[in-house]
Amino acid sequence: MKAKSEVEIYDTTLRDGSQGEGVNFSVADKLRIADKLDSFGVHYIEGGWPGSNPKDIEFFAQAKKRKYKNARLAAFGSTRRKGVAVENDEQVRLLIEAGTPVVTIYGKTWLLHVKEVLRTTPEENLAMIGDTVRFLKDHGKFVVYDCEHGFDGFKDDADYALATWQAAEKAGADLIVLCDTNGGCLPNEIARITQVAHGKLNARLGIHTHDDIGLGVANALAALEVGATHVQGTINGYGERTGNCNLTSLIPNLALKLGKKCVSTASLAKLKELSQFVDEIANIRHSPRQPWVGSGAFSHKGGTHVNAVQKLARSYEHIDPTLVGNERTVLVSDLSGRSNIVMKAQELGFKITNDTPELKSILARIKELEHAGYEFEAAEGSLALLIRRRLKNEEPPFVVEAYHVSMRRDAPMQKGAEGKSICEATVKVRVGNEVAHRVAEGDGPVNSLDSALRLALGKFFPQLKKVQLTDYKVRILDGETVAGVSEPADRSARVGTASKTRVLIESTDGKEAWGTVGVSENIIEASLQALVDSLEYGLLKKK
Ligand SMILES: [Zn+2]
Repeated sequence: MKAKSEVEIYDTTLRDGSQGEGVNFSVADKLRIADKLDSFGVHYIEGGWPGSNPKDIEFFAQAKKRKYKNARLAAFGSTRRKGVAVENDEQVRLLIEAGTPVVTIYGKTWLLHVKEVLRTTPEENLAMIGDTVRFLKDHGKFVVYDCEHGFDGFKDDADYALATWQAAEKAGADLIVLCDTNGGCLPNEIARITQVAHGKLNARLGIHTHDDIGLGVANALAALEVGATHVQGTINGYGERTGNCNLTSLIPNLALKLGKKCVSTASLAKLKELSQFVDEIANIRHSPRQPWVGSGAFSHKGGTHVNAVQKLARSYEHIDPTLVGNERTVLVSDLSGRSNIVMKAQELGFKITNDTPELKSILARIKELEHAGYEFEAAEGSLALLIRRRLKNEEPPFVVEAYHVSMRRDAPMQKGAEGKSICEATVKVRVGNEVAHRVAEGDGPVNSLDSALRLALGKFFPQLKKVQLTDYKVRILDGETVAGVSEPADRSARVGTASKTRVLIESTDGKEAWGTVGVSENIIEASLQALVDSLEYGLLKKK
């Protein structure tokens, strides 16, 4: 781990964040997000709660096989149950089996919870904390102890709260994290109580806040200014109710306003991309009003503002937007996105610089497609193909010349009864001078198209057998979403037959995962675009 960081970033998007409304990650999604967070440079990735669902157990089983270069993976759980020896507690056993270097457990600080929710004695709660931390330490884990209701508990009974934290410390916890679980505290309360903890404990302190009164980020900063050196939060503030401390706001505040080191300057410049990537994977529309990273964060509409900004950017901007990978959006047809694209292209393995002659046309094409509703943050496969086509004057490995999809149902339609309709797809592909024509059935139009396409390509490219689709997401775009920063009007009224559909497909060849995108007014057409890109990228990517 990089010891130079003054503040450690602990990301819990995959655990606390996935408890947010409308957020539902598949195992493939979680693995992609973990890779992205790792390359961004967060210090810890909390992958899930193995004791709460089988999907998280599967995630850890897969994650175990990967190498993370910056982050350490954490499994989340709770202290042992009351009246049960820690070694016999199933949930604690699953934490060990997750095989992560870090284990984070939460325990009760607040007597109200000990008595009314756990229904146990104050002494047994202290024993539950101590036993569990000690057991995990004995198994060689780095132990993060999350003090649930740390602040509310302290306000109710300071001595008892302190006793719970000391129980964790005495048992060997590596980090003690005070949590504003209900999200209702004010920054001055957070600072005062963190200061007390800082004075009484020797262990390193962390902070975990929620945004119920709109102060999630402010509260985390308050704790970090008085001694905490570790902060937990989620990308885009995902989380239960109104969400967690938003790392996409917290990180630039730390780096650019407080001058505290947390991630590299290069990573900071990828913050907006990270934010959009996670929204795309979660299939959530990126909010233009997000501080720092929203498309509207540095947009200037008013005439005098535009004028002044053109003369002197500083006059109406609190920072240079490129520091967080954002851009000013007044200057139409400019090349403001140039450095972002160069960076991204280099990441994808292209030898490209600011002076590459094709850059201008690549950028123009990307802007054109973005305007038409494409998003490339989570579709690096499609982006790589686009760049490649402009840099190298070469024929694509295959061309879909024609296709046909039909769907038939021979039984009365009934909601909830599946499997009665049959889809059939025919695909004609050309590879060089040869043409292949294949038919396949499937349980849906996209599935049958995918099968027919693979059948047709199979004899030319046997290596495509390794490429598998892992996820498929569909989003309806209304007119204003496509156009840019303004808020969508009544969505339901706008989703008519002429709405565009964006399809994001995630694929893997067992070693690497990639996303591809298609946009059309026709969902099948959009799906086919993404499918074709997925297979083409599978054929052309290096490694
Ligand atoms: Zn939480």
